[in-house]
Amino acid sequence: MFAEVLTIGDELLTGNTVDSNSSFIGQKLTERGYWVRRKTTVGDDVGEIKTVVREILRRKPAVLIISGGLGPTHDDVTMVAVAKALGRNPILCEKCLEKVKAFYERLYREGYIDDPNLNEGRRKMAYLPEGAEPLENTEGAAPGAYIEHGGVKIFILPGMPREMKAMLENEVLPRLGKRKFIQRKLLAEVTDESKLAPLLIETLEHFNVRIHSSPKGFGNYIGIIIFGESQEEIEGAKGFMESRGVRFEEGW
Ligand code: ATP
Ligand code: MG
Repeated sequence: MFAEVLTIGDELLTGNTVDSNSSFIGQKLTERGYWVRRKTTVGDDVGEIKTVVREILRRKPAVLIISGGLGPTHDDVTMVAVAKALGRNPILCEKCLEKVKAFYERLYREGYIDDPNLNEGRRKMAYLPEGAEPLENTEGAAPGAYIEHGGVKIFILPGMPREMKAMLENEVLPRLGKRKFIQRKLLAEVTDESKLAPLLIETLEHFNVRIHSSPKGFGNYIGIIIFGESQEEIEGAKGFMESRGVRFEEGW
């Protein structure tokens, strides 16, 4: 089961904002047992977004998580662009519009803004691709969206990290089922990583696992994490490396 992440925003490309959202999403998906195969970033551009979404869908990930560009300004074009990529129309979600309205009325009552009325930008946030299910935004105005398209579960989330995290936890992860995440941390008694490299490649050819390795100081150990979909697969990979002379200690 593999997943892809798409983050959207000109500020991510210029380097004015560090893309912490894709790290957070990657971490949460990995914990759920998904293999995050790619992360892509594009600017706030309908054409770019449409093209990249179509490319991703052709790779048929189980899950695609998109973040950014749901706000009220002219450069927030994600919903329209994703709708285009899927060949669907953006449709007004009445229930979402009520929530957007209530959100700004509350900000007005609390003295944060001086106009509670719906304007074009605020109304725009209530448009979702046809057939999408709205995702509740407990921290902000713009709803997210969930769409199943060609066997891919697509989630569209806001860019503001606080909003994205709440929506991911409350609305996305419960829809991804309860797959068990399996990883095993080992210390390999190998003097330097380059000695282990050819064996790691061979192991990956024989077993359906991923292996991360990181040096733990020269002349001692290499830290290894084996990720797999079952305990047997992980044990198999470990046993294979042992049969080639690597000694392991548990954990690090
Ligand atoms: P909102 O609905 O809250 O307006 P939005 O979906 O329109 O959000 P953006 O306008 O793209 O989101 O970004 C809102 C804020 O979140 C900006 O300050 C932006 O820099 C930050 N942000 C956006 N994407 C990311 C990201 N991938 N990682 C970290 N911060 C991000
Ligand atoms: Mg943006």
